[in-house]
Amino acid sequence: MSREVRVRFAPSPTGPLHIGGVRTALYNYLFAKKHQGTFILRIEDTDQARYVPGAEEYIKESLDWLGITPDESPWNPGNFGPYRQSERKPDYMQYALDLVEKGHAYYAFDTAEELEAMRERLTAARVVQPQYNSITRTQMKNSLTLSAEEVKARLESGEPYVIRVKIPRKEEVRLNDLIRGWVMVHSSTLDDKVLMKSDGMPTYHLANIVDDHLMKITHVIRGEEWLPSAPLHVLLYQFFGWEDSMPEFAHLPLLLKPDGNGKLSKRDGDRLGFPVFPIDWNNPSSSETAMGFREQGYLPEALLNFLAFLGWNPGDERELFTKAELVEAFSIDRIGKAGAKFDIAKAKWYNEHYLRAKSVDELQQFVIQDAQKEGFEVSEEKAAAMVRLTKDRVTFPAELWQESKFLIVTPSTFDDQVASKRWNADAVKVLTHYAERLQNHSGEFDAETAKNLLAASADAVEVKLGKVMQAVRLAVTGAGAGPDLMEIFAILGVKELANRIRFALDQLPVNG
Ligand code: GLU
Repeated sequence: MSREVRVRFAPSPTGPLHIGGVRTALYNYLFAKKHQGTFILRIEDTDQARYVPGAEEYIKESLDWLGITPDESPWNPGNFGPYRQSERKPDYMQYALDLVEKGHAYYAFDTAEELEAMRERLTAARVVQPQYNSITRTQMKNSLTLSAEEVKARLESGEPYVIRVKIPRKEEVRLNDLIRGWVMVHSSTLDDKVLMKSDGMPTYHLANIVDDHLMKITHVIRGEEWLPSAPLHVLLYQFFGWEDSMPEFAHLPLLLKPDGNGKLSKRDGDRLGFPVFPIDWNNPSSSETAMGFREQGYLPEALLNFLAFLGWNPGDERELFTKAELVEAFSIDRIGKAGAKFDIAKAKWYNEHYLRAKSVDELQQFVIQDAQKEGFEVSEEKAAAMVRLTKDRVTFPAELWQESKFLIVTPSTFDDQVASKRWNADAVKVLTHYAERLQNHSGEFDAETAKNLLAASADAVEVKLGKVMQAVRLAVTGAGAGPDLMEIFAILGVKELANRIRFALDQLPVNG
């Protein structure tokens, strides 16, 4: 039986979306598009204590920026809504009660103190994993141990209760993960998880299964951290009698720290100076902030390409893929089991590639805008020249202006180190001569002319040009290194060039 592919990305709005979550969204998206299926965004907001205002919008904006656009979402609902779990709240109870009726779930009335006492008892008895399960539940206050009348009376009195799943004592739970193969777990290792909380809200497990069922999800593609929950989910499908439509599971490998030692965290980003979130985050109700790839100057196509390769590869040497090419090439069987090291150098490499692939027209806008922010008006023509000069040397768009700004803003200081090493009498001779030639020059002035005139000046004063080149650069740009110097001369034009040289000759003392 082949069903229309329907996959979902189901983040909880508890803060900014981690880059690992974005990768999960991307893989879901690619899989859906590859199979002409539907990509759904579902907001899992049943844990009200952890709800963070602004987090939903953050998720939306991040996905929009990257073009990982859901076909169905809270903002673009299809026929399987609601797409926010809290809006489905009234429905979950009936599903939990259905399980109670079938004998797969039960009411539990234990107070926090009683649960704590149980934990202490078990810990004292050296139980490694103290939990509410098929053995311990027999000593607790629940509808399996209390009489039917007492349960009824407690429920009617309005006493708080939860509904727990009744995990069978001895059963092998198996699932065939598309990435990991067969996963087998003995039910004695599982606990009787709460399905309905005392506030009338479902827990993640219940809501997730009910929603996946109602939304006709065919494949659950999510992070490895959910693998331990998968056996419970399989049991729930069985308990509900939904085995036939149970989705297939694919648990994605973890994103690891750059050195491969452990899971990538926000702290790693802070420590090593790179973002681990798609866009900037400012928690509206606290002072929590986080930097994003977008604001750091990463292009969406670069981040997308980078993320696609964190756990997946096409099986050949190719590394550069547009979104459409990723859709074409993507398959779950090429996702690895091993964690993927987060190599920010690779992200930069992608960024450089996609930046270079942009037209001068597109890039000159960055220069014009960045210049404007600092109060400079740069013409389109000039900006285009500045882009041509720097585009192959930079990683981020903001560097286009930073690296070529000296063309607009005459440098008033000179790199001391370069000056002390390279500024000498020979340089002064060549530059004095050159400045004069420039002044007398008429007609076109391009890189070629600039170079010929400079070579002629060096000849005239009998100095080897190669020996003074760095000093020449220093005089005109204030720095010892940078883009092609003759191109710089051509952009500056003969007059500005001569002025700069004269200014430098004036400012810099001659040593030796
Ligand atoms: N709400 C879960 C999360 O935040 C979803 C896990 C799943 O995809 O089942 O990651």
